[in-house]
This record gives sequence, structure tokens and C-alpha cells, in this order.
Amino acid sequence: MNDPVDLVVVGGGLAGLSLATRLVRGGYAGRVVILEPRGEYVDDRSWAFWTPAHHALPVAPARQWNHWQFSRQDGEPVTRRAPGWRYAYIRSLDLYRNALALIASRPNFRLLMGTRANAVDASGGHLSVATTAGTFPTSFVVDTRPAAMDRFSGSTLFQCFSGRELRFDQARFDDSRVELMTDMRSDALGFVFSYVLPLSPTRALVEATRFSTRALGQAQLCADLDQTLAARGWSNAQVLRTETAVLPMGLPAPDVAEPIAGVAHAGMGAGALRAASGFGFVRIQAWADRCARELLQGRPPVGHPAEPKVQGWMDRVFLRALANNPARSPEFFLRLASSVPGEAFVRFMSEQGGWRDHARIIAALPPGPFLQALHGPSLRPRPST
Ligand SMILES: Cc1cc2nc3c(=O)[nH]c(=O)nc-3n(C[C@H](O)[C@H](O)[C@H](O)COP(=O)(O)OP(=O)(O)OC[C@H]3O[C@@H](n4cnc5c(N)ncnc54)[C@H](O)[C@@H]3O)c2cc1C
Repeated sequence: MNDPVDLVVVGGGLAGLSLATRLVRGGYAGRVVILEPRGEYVDDRSWAFWTPAHHALPVAPARQWNHWQFSRQDGEPVTRRAPGWRYAYIRSLDLYRNALALIASRPNFRLLMGTRANAVDASGGHLSVATTAGTFPTSFVVDTRPAAMDRFSGSTLFQCFSGRELRFDQARFDDSRVELMTDMRSDALGFVFSYVLPLSPTRALVEATRFSTRALGQAQLCADLDQTLAARGWSNAQVLRTETAVLPMGLPAPDVAEPIAGVAHAGMGAGALRAASGFGFVRIQAWADRCARELLQGRPPVGHPAEPKVQGWMDRVFLRALANNPARSPEFFLRLASSVPGEAFVRFMSEQGGWRDHARIIAALPPGPFLQALHGPSLRPRPST
């Protein structure tokens, strides 16, 4: 049994570290333990998102852009912008290093690497977390562990991608704009597109992404990426790093049968990913602000707020329409890109859309597939491969 602490943060990923850095900055005086199984932090993912131009970010973005593109395979690109907004890219290693330095600067914060949490126990009215480094009695727990794969089966779609950060000796990329969804097409496995973040004229993160009704395996995702790179003439680039993901889109928040007082769940495992995009960076930052405020006031931690009703409904219908119509998915996205003003699209994607933005999104989409998605049978994803 370890000495009692005030807060155990289970998971030192984006959510856990985002909360910890806010508590450090806010001068939290309690004893905090952060439990993280990994032995070292590497640059394992890229966080990209829209943000208002002057909004402060947790760490400086490695790059930001004012323009983004959509295109069908062999089609003309549609380039969009949203005045007052930027598309920012944060390198995960920058965020991890910044958090680790802040945590190390306070003696009341401890990050235990190589440590896995097991059960959270509340018997006898006392909270404790059993871990591979012994049990920690605690007043509060914030659990950010990812959902187990078997829970993923509740997802409507999966965003599956494989990416490589490439470097050439000579300029090969137009770094004035992001390729948000280009080369959009569909095949027997569903809807597929390219995502290119040009970090400089000689470096870029290139991903091949699929929206699929099942979680696709590595081999398929790598084959997609190889094909994308070959088509662009980029196969011979130096590969600086790789990243890969299978992100649930439309995964319902877990049903916690009996919530335990003093325990909050957050991050991807608690439904933080936006259904329409599969992304969660902005939501997790907003949650970390709120949860840290509560803890700094001596109150228990909080989880993610309920999703706004209209937005949640639109996301679910949109996902069902995509899942039902992979062959028409390029058309849906191109209609959104061409007909919805950039600001309205970005506000909607950033969860700041009002009813006018929602109306513009609905008006841009063909009614047939969306009415069918509204009334059709609910989709059950196939088992993963
Ligand atoms: C490759 C990739 C790219 C992404 N790109 C974007 C993007 O561009 N924009 C965007 O908005 N979102 C993106 N996402 C989605 C989302 O923002 C990230 O997944 C984000 O890291 C989720 O944060 P999290 O804290 O919930 O999970 P994680 O960051 O995965 O953290 C969970 C932590 O829990 C730890 N853990 C697991 N089991 C235990 C245990 N038993 N005990 C203790 N700790 C445990 C894990 O080691 C991990 O560190 C991306 C995701 C991936 C995988």
C-alpha cells in the first residue's frame, strides 16, 4: 500500500497530461499521481484541428494553415478558408515534453511511467486504485484509459488510417494549404481519401484514410498508403516516423451503471471523440479546463458534458448516411466543401455552429440518402478483422 494521495490520474496520454498541466499551472497543492504504462514518450500522433486565429493553445503548433482542400480522385480541388480561423497542427512530442517538464517542476506531482492501473475500488467508502506499483488510496480518480476493443462494436463507422512523415532533399510539397480530404473515392472496402499536412516544402505528413464499417487491420492500411505514395511519386522519400489509428466514429459514451463518487471518466474511452470527425483534441482541452477548475476549487473531478442534442443528432444521421452510401461519400463531402461557406463549415466541425450553420449543412446535402438514414434501420458494424 502506497501513501494516500489526493488525486490519481489513470493514463498519461492527451487527456491525463492536459489535466495535469492545468493543475500545475493553477498551483494545485494536493498530491497527484499520474499512472502511465508506456516506458517513454515518442512522437506517436499528430493533433490537427481548427482554432480561432488568436486562441491560445497548450503548446505552440508546429505549423498552421489558412487554406484547406477537398477533391475527388481525378477531380479539380476545392480550396476553402475561414477568416478568423486557422487549421493548427500540434506535434504530440511537443505536448508530451511540455507536460513532463511542468510535472517534474512540482514535488507534489508524480508521473509513474511503466505503471498500469487495474481496478478502481470504493469499498468501505474509501477510494483506491490498484496498480502494478501497488495500491494508491486517494480522494479522487480521473480515469482516461481508452475503451477496450470489444466496446468499439457500438461504433457506426471507424476512421482507419496509416500515415508517414516524409522528407525529400528538394522541395516537393506546396505548404500553403492542407489537403484535408483529397483523392476521395470508394472501393470494395468503402470510402477512402488522402490527408496531407505539408510541414515545409520538403516535409509532409501523408495519410491514407478510410471510413469503414469495420476496424481495418494494419496490412490493409499500409497497402493503401503505399498506393497513395506511389500515385504521387513519393515512394522514395525518407520516412521520419509513422502513425496509425483506428478511431471509433459515433461510439456512444459508456454506460456507467453505478457511478462512483469522486471518480470521473474522460478522454477517448469516455466518448470524447466527435462522431462526425473522429477527432477529440479540442473537446479534451475544453474538458481539462473545466475539470481542473473544479479540482482547484476543492471539488470532485468532472467528466465530459453531454453532447449538444442537435449536433449529436446531425452527426448520427450523417454517419449513417456515410455508412449506407460509401460510393456517394465523396459527393457528400464535396457538396459540403463547395456549398457551405468556410466559416460555417469550420464552426460546425468545431462545435460552435448555430442553427444557421446547421441549416446550411443540411441544405448542402442530397435529401434522399439523409432521409433514408433518418428512417432506415440502425446499422450494426461487422466484426473487426
Ligand atoms: C494516430 C492518431 C492521430 C490522431 N489525430 C488526431 C487529430 O489530428 N485531431 C484530433 O482532434 N484527434 C486526433 N486523434 C484522436 C484523439 O485526439 C487522440 O486519440 C487522443 O490522444 C485521445 O486522448 P486520450 O487521453 O483519450 O487517449 P490517449 O492519448 O491514448 O491516452 C490514454 C492513455 O492511457 C494509458 N493507459 C492505457 N491503459 C492504461 C492502464 N491500464 N493504466 C494506466 N494508463 C493506461 C495509455 O498508455 C495512454 O497514454 C488521433 C488519434 C490517433 C491515435
